[in-house]
Amino acid sequence: MMSLDNRPVYAGGCQCGAVRFRVEGTLGDASICHCRMCQKASGNFYLPLVSVRGAKVDWTRGEPKRFRSSNAAWRGFCADCGTPLTFEAPDGTALAIAAFDDPAGIAPTIQWGIEAKLPYVDAIPQLPGEDTSADISSAPYLAELVSYQHPDHDTEQWPPKERS
Ligand SMILES: [Zn+2]
Ligand SMILES: [Zn+2]
Repeated sequence: MMSLDNRPVYAGGCQCGAVRFRVEGTLGDASICHCRMCQKASGNFYLPLVSVRGAKVDWTRGEPKRFRSSNAAWRGFCADCGTPLTFEAPDGTALAIAAFDDPAGIAPTIQWGIEAKLPYVDAIPQLPGEDTSADISSAPYLAELVSYQHPDHDTEQWPPKERS
C-alpha cells in the first residue's frame, strides 16, 4: 500500500486487536536479536525487529504499555493480550516484524546478540514438519475452531459486535 504522497504504508498490531499501528515511510534494518533480553521480552528464542527510525509511526487504536528493560530501552507490548510490539532506544524505535499484517515482506538481514543464541536454534529447520491440520484426529477441536485473533487488516470496530 502507498500513501497519497507515494510513501509506503504498513499496518499491524497485537493479537487481540486492542493496539494497532500504522507506519508511513521506508522501513529500516530488519534483524533478529538472540540476546537474553530479547528472549525474555518475546518469550521466544529470538526477537525479529524492524527499525522504523526513518518512518512515521501512529498508534491507530490503543497504545502499548511499556516496560523499561534497561536504562537505555523500553519494550512496548499490548497490556490486554501481551503481544510484544516495540523496542524503543535513544537512537530510535523498532517494531516486532511478526506483528505487522504482512510480515512476509520484511525479511531479516542480520542477527544480533549471537553470544546468547540458544544451542538448538540452528537445528530447527532440520526438524520434521507438519501443517496444523495434519493430526486432526488427535485434536478434533481444530475442525470447529473459531479464531478470536484480530484479522490482518484494519477494522472499523473491534471486537466485532457479536462478541462485544
Ligand atoms: Zn492485544
Ligand atoms: Zn536483543
